[in-house]
Amino acid sequence: MTTAPAQIGASATRREKSIRGLRTCVGCGRTDEPDAMVRLVLSPNDELAVDLAGGRFGRGAHLHASPRCLALAARGLTKNFRRPIAAHPGELAAVIAAAADRRVAGLLASAARTRQLQVGADTAGKAFDNGTAYLLVVARDAAAAASVGSVMHAVARGGAVAWGSKAELGSLVAKSEVAVLGITSQPLAAAVRAAVMIANGVAQGGGSTRGDHSQRAMATEDR
Ligand SMILES: [Zn+2]
Repeated sequence: MTTAPAQIGASATRREKSIRGLRTCVGCGRTDEPDAMVRLVLSPNDELAVDLAGGRFGRGAHLHASPRCLALAARGLTKNFRRPIAAHPGELAAVIAAAADRRVAGLLASAARTRQLQVGADTAGKAFDNGTAYLLVVARDAAAAASVGSVMHAVARGGAVAWGSKAELGSLVAKSEVAVLGITSQPLAAAVRAAVMIANGVAQGGGSTRGDHSQRAMATEDR
């Protein structure tokens, strides 16, 4: 067999990948859905920025939000951006976690503005049970709310994430403290889940399955 068929095969695979929108991780070198990774962009002054919303211009690189891929990122980023990139894994993790936190706050604020939130453990839990809420956001300092039946049910089904404090959740809906918010918009719920998974992934070692991840997120200590 000559090399020609192999080349044709390879280009078909590349084309197929670009159609499906797969990207290569600069850490492990594997291809994956862009949603499963963090997009990093290089600013004009050569600083790495995190582009979680995917709207930033400029040359980008994709990276799994896992300690393993973060540890391997410096070499891949240097190759990708064709200049030396000093990406210390710990600093990279902190920058990604901060960006993910900001994104969650922004998405929840957007959900609040467009009235796509159910407020409080009972109301939000009920909304999840009857299918009108797609994700529950449980404050990390809301241990009591996490033991409400419908909230526990959502946690067990992978329908809950732990994020922020009761005061932070409350400030989004003009209340002093809120333990649980239920997101009634499917796209917003998916985006919040993805951002929380990124923050937890760089902090704790990455979750693979949703249920497992949410359970782990719920068990996270207060920050
Ligand atoms: Zn990777």
